[in-house]
Amino acid sequence: MSRSSLKRFLEYLVSFFYPARCPLCDQFSARCVACSSCKESLSVLDAPAVFLVAGFGGLDRCISCFAFDGVVKDAIHRFKYSGELSLRDYFASQLFKRLPDLPDFDVVVTVPMHKNKIVKRGFNQAALIAASVARRAGKKFCHGALVRISDGASQTQLQRTERIASVKGAFNIDDSAQENIKNKKVLIIDDVTTTGATICECAKVLKKAGAEKIYALTLARTIA
Ligand SMILES: [Zn+2]
Repeated sequence: MSRSSLKRFLEYLVSFFYPARCPLCDQFSARCVACSSCKESLSVLDAPAVFLVAGFGGLDRCISCFAFDGVVKDAIHRFKYSGELSLRDYFASQLFKRLPDLPDFDVVVTVPMHKNKIVKRGFNQAALIAASVARRAGKKFCHGALVRISDGASQTQLQRTERIASVKGAFNIDDSAQENIKNKKVLIIDDVTTTGATICECAKVLKKAGAEKIYALTLARTIA
């Protein structure tokens, strides 16, 4: 038996005993691929529908993969509270697919969570996805580059102006990350954006630290 047919045979055996599931709805499906019914219900935001906030808070460009509703919303909630590995890989693969819609970049950072929240949840879900995207893209993931200095109440109920006020001054650059940011093109990866206030505030802090360009890529965006 040749090496490649042995590999195929072993893959078949594994899939026989451990049938793969759709990462979004958990029904049987091909590995790390959304099933056809989930695929149909996804609201994909394609490149012409990008969220452009050029000149606002130092953010040069922001793209989101999906509208924050339906199966994506459910899956993001599940991921936030469980960290399911299959969802991490699926989300990272979807973000990775959108990289050609952004200019080239040098480093990946993520929106930080306050340490009290990390203690409560055990992990920062955006950091898990960002690390995976950076690895796929062969770029440096600058973990902990941005630090959250104020706790910041949950933003879900706040209006845009309130959100902007609530994140003002909430972030800092870690001293050890200065060199990785200065004169670099930085990509911020996050799970969901609503008004963009948080990402814009992060962009402002990164620009202040000398970043040349700031792009953002989020999994989902709330569509008003
Ligand atoms: Zn599905």
